[in-house]
Amino acid sequence: MPIDREKATLALDGPVSRVRLVSPARAKALEKLGVRTLRDLLTHFPRSYLDLSQVETCASARIGETCTIRGTVHEIKLKKPRYNLKLVEIALVDGTGILMVTAFRQPWLMDQVKSGDEVAVSGKVTFDYGYKRMTNPFIEVVGEQDGPSMAGAVVPVHPATEKLSAAWVRRIVANGLEEADGAFDPLPLGLRLRYRLMSRNAALHAIHFPRTMDEAAEARRRLVYEELLYLELFLMQEGAERARGATPTAHVVDGRRVGAFATGLPFALTGEQERARDEILAAMAASSAMNHMLLGDVGTGKTVVAGFALAAAADTGGQALLLAPTEVLARQHAEGLGSLLAAAGVSCELLTGSTSAAERASITERFAAGEVDVLIGTHALLSDDVQPARLTLAVIDEQQRFGVDQRARLLAKGEAPDALYLTATPIPRTLALALYGNLTLSYLKHRPHDAVSRSTRVLPKELQGEAFDAARAALARGEQVYVVCPLVGKGTAERDEKAAGKASDADAAGEEYHPVVAIEGEGDFDDDVAAATKEAAMLQATTFADYTVELMHGGMGADAKRAVMERFRDGEVQVLVATTVIEVGVDVPNATVMIVQDADRFGLAQLHQLRGRVGRGTKAAEVFLVSASTRDESLARLAAMETTDDGFELAAYDLSLRREGDILGNRQHGASGLKLVNIMRDGAVIEAAHADAAALLDVDPCLEEPDHRAMAREVRLAFAGETVGG
Ligand code: ADP
Ligand code: MG
Repeated sequence: MPIDREKATLALDGPVSRVRLVSPARAKALEKLGVRTLRDLLTHFPRSYLDLSQVETCASARIGETCTIRGTVHEIKLKKPRYNLKLVEIALVDGTGILMVTAFRQPWLMDQVKSGDEVAVSGKVTFDYGYKRMTNPFIEVVGEQDGPSMAGAVVPVHPATEKLSAAWVRRIVANGLEEADGAFDPLPLGLRLRYRLMSRNAALHAIHFPRTMDEAAEARRRLVYEELLYLELFLMQEGAERARGATPTAHVVDGRRVGAFATGLPFALTGEQERARDEILAAMAASSAMNHMLLGDVGTGKTVVAGFALAAAADTGGQALLLAPTEVLARQHAEGLGSLLAAAGVSCELLTGSTSAAERASITERFAAGEVDVLIGTHALLSDDVQPARLTLAVIDEQQRFGVDQRARLLAKGEAPDALYLTATPIPRTLALALYGNLTLSYLKHRPHDAVSRSTRVLPKELQGEAFDAARAALARGEQVYVVCPLVGKGTAERDEKAAGKASDADAAGEEYHPVVAIEGEGDFDDDVAAATKEAAMLQATTFADYTVELMHGGMGADAKRAVMERFRDGEVQVLVATTVIEVGVDVPNATVMIVQDADRFGLAQLHQLRGRVGRGTKAAEVFLVSASTRDESLARLAAMETTDDGFELAAYDLSLRREGDILGNRQHGASGLKLVNIMRDGAVIEAAHADAAALLDVDPCLEEPDHRAMAREVRLAFAGETVGG
């Protein structure tokens, strides 16, 4: 039968339920993963691969290393060691020995794996109680019923749910690929040839079912380039669109409120802050639309600089939105910056997901009437009921947490408003330009209190007592302490849901998801160690018995988190045990000691962000990175934290250490439209795509040439939030 290209192309945007094996129930499960159309299915990329060509046996697997082991399930048991905790334990045998596999919080494995099944597990090998073990490895049943997918030596592991196992997703994806065979390749041939890229069909087959890891890497290369080219085309077209016909505001930047804000500050700005303020105000005063990014490491004082911009908008009779990625952060801005602004005559309100309906109605109504100058909030600001009377400035804090379409939605609330992005991600200038269009930049390189010392020490677990001694000394001086633990109870399934963009709680998703800095690998899978809950109870009972210890983690509701944060800020709580939810922007100047448990599980950039939480006041701070690891490479990696305080350098160093097999990049928020791209690692591709997009639009601004039409459609589908037919 000849391949029908038209039909295959159209099928892409048909419902996924047309794919063989997709029953209504499975369609529902797929929807939970963000998959509605065949196109969604084909871009539901594996989150990892089991490389069965690199299999170890139970006997040959080296302790401390990550590997894949294939064997037969000898026994599988569900255990409940304590209330609220279920774990599945599997004894795996392969003729050379036995491997004990422990999976936390995935009780459904009991339905998916039976004794006698052949499975492959991939993870880090440890040794405990007389056995080699893996905790929360990737587990795949690799029996013969698996058919085509097992042809190669590489098994894809797709994001799955409780209702739909990875093995099922794999079968469905295989069927989906058949349906789409023969679809047009939207990428112009010239570009494909220039970079020697696979065809799209070949790339889709190869990323889902590679025969070798090299093939998967080639497929990724093609798909990443394509994602980036479309992103660039979208950004450039959107920029041109925005500029057309709209009249940007030339702001009054030396008005009464700007002056009052300056005099009301409890401190003097640093030289760098003054320069950044001047650069931003100059851009706001100009009659073109500002697109400005303020880059500065955590603690460099970006917020107050943004305050000047907000005051200038009010002086001009305009309004401003300040978007933050989490409830905690939005609230902190409303309280800190908000009260400084209020004192300067700028009225502020706070809008988040937990604002009551009545309050929300009142705030949006007053905002629409122009009675509120600045609205601070979370993703709630993006919703349609937020309609400013005259938006002249949009500020996005921690902007790396937001997708391009979210940014577009915020800016669309006004007529060519000025845009100010704040970020602690050290992204190189060329990348910033490529990702955010024509952009001006200001940098803050030093913290206001750089004079104050902050020391960082790596401690082996057996010496952690030294860290606790330092903590007690600080508490005795009336200061406060953070104890940071790796994530509690985030099973793989939960992470998958998150990765799939199931942002039921957008705030929580934003808090623990680090598109740029998250380290994939061992740290993610065994999150049982030093569970924060246990740690908090233990510390309260022993080390810090004289003080109040409280726990904060991502599983808590926004209200509960807020309450804990407030008690910590007010000093009622002296020791805060937390997972990385404290990472973004939290500011308690009296906190001077931070102890990070199992520090080797965090990425360096993430550790750097974490340590930015202390040393924010005028008192010297101490950071202790505790690690039980005995691997030289982990310790060498951590030692970099002792020697440099430059977040940029650390991020680059971390990237240089990434393993070869880790080629899928980090998943971005579903909303960003980018599924494979890693901003840090794909820098060269970003720049190439930027240049190519500019050249394409130069000759064909609306992408109307026959060779470009398919591409134009892809761009709209990927980024403009357009559905089929639109
Ligand atoms: P970030 O850049 O990480 O967002 P913040 O804006 O939260 O940093 O500022 C960090 C802390 O430094 C805050 O407590 C803020 O009040 C304080 N701060 C900012 N600028 C100065 C300054 N010039 N002098 C003293 N403290 C400052
Ligand atoms: Mg900040």
